[in-house]
Amino acid sequence: MSGAQHTRLGSQALLTIDLDALVANWRAIAARVAPAQCAAVVKADAYGIGLVPAAQALSSAGCASFFVAHVAEAVRLRTALGDAPAQIYCLNGVSDDAAEIQALLGAQAFPVIGSSHEWSVWLKHAPCHEAALHIDTGMNRLGMSAQEAQAIAATPEAACVALVLSHFASSEERENPMNAAQIGAFDAVRQLFSNARASLANSSGVFLPTAPHYDLVRAGYALYGGNPTPDAPNPMQSVVGVQAPIIQVRNVEAGAMVGYNSTWRAPSPRRLATIGIGYADGLLRSASGTQGNPAAQVYLGDTPCPVVGRISMDLSVIDVTEAPVKEACPGAMVELLGAHISVEDLAACANTIGYEILTSLSRRYFRQYVGG
Ligand SMILES: *Cc1c(COP(=O)(O)O)cnc(C)c1O
Repeated sequence: MSGAQHTRLGSQALLTIDLDALVANWRAIAARVAPAQCAAVVKADAYGIGLVPAAQALSSAGCASFFVAHVAEAVRLRTALGDAPAQIYCLNGVSDDAAEIQALLGAQAFPVIGSSHEWSVWLKHAPCHEAALHIDTGMNRLGMSAQEAQAIAATPEAACVALVLSHFASSEERENPMNAAQIGAFDAVRQLFSNARASLANSSGVFLPTAPHYDLVRAGYALYGGNPTPDAPNPMQSVVGVQAPIIQVRNVEAGAMVGYNSTWRAPSPRRLATIGIGYADGLLRSASGTQGNPAAQVYLGDTPCPVVGRISMDLSVIDVTEAPVKEACPGAMVELLGAHISVEDLAACANTIGYEILTSLSRRYFRQYVGG
């Protein structure tokens, strides 16, 4: 790509994506669910890490099914995969827009049909083309009722249904009774389509004790290193690293105030460092720690350093008083995600979930892909 930048400039923050870890995570889930297969959910630019490199690495490793949300993502994905035989499913289905359906067919992708209305739209534009059906089993977001599915099952066009799927509302809560209720509802509907494959589990669903793997699991978050079992240690390898450079270091007196609206006051003389990363990079402003949450921490070497004051667009300030003086110097890199700080750690400080941390990673980083 002309104009692509090949080396990081000194003041740029660095996003490192470990494609070997991504592939290892896919292999681990594929082995766990075999003989079911593991599809990769690569919507939202593969949760922020980059659709093209992620899908190419997974496809080379043998992943043969991919889920995206939008038709435009399916088009990009098909181009990235080239000749590799891969099934692509669009979770958001299709609208009654002939151009969109042509784009979907051109990408040889399958819509995930979420209502009987959408099913009739699909049959009108693309008769006899295979599709997936999304059955609602309690989330009330996308998907048709069991009754709607039953009506479709009674028609000759039911033969076009290649995959029946549903989605868990709370699979990361292994004790939540809704999981068993959704499995029961799904079991009843999938019997109606005996020739179709069945799919229910997302990342956390894979790890439920009842192993509701069916024919295909749809893993997203866990592939990207997120913890699918929040109550237990993370079984996945870390994929995403974020580092930012120190730009300035200063000593302040007790009582000195930091950042917009002076939300932090130095309790004693402190040594502060300004780092080149802010909310425009995806370091959410809510991780400033001014709303009753602990502020985000970064690591300088092995020393945790809290963020102080408000995170601003391009900059944040950290307290490096506890770090060795010679480490806290302009140009030194601090860790925001990596060996010491998980996606879930940062999410907790920002009052959100790891999924939002990943999908907020901005385009401004210098991106470094390793392995793959
Ligand atoms: C996003 C999504 C997934 C993937 O979920 P993870 O928790 O990231 O594994 C699976 N299925 C559907 C329908 C989704 O929308």
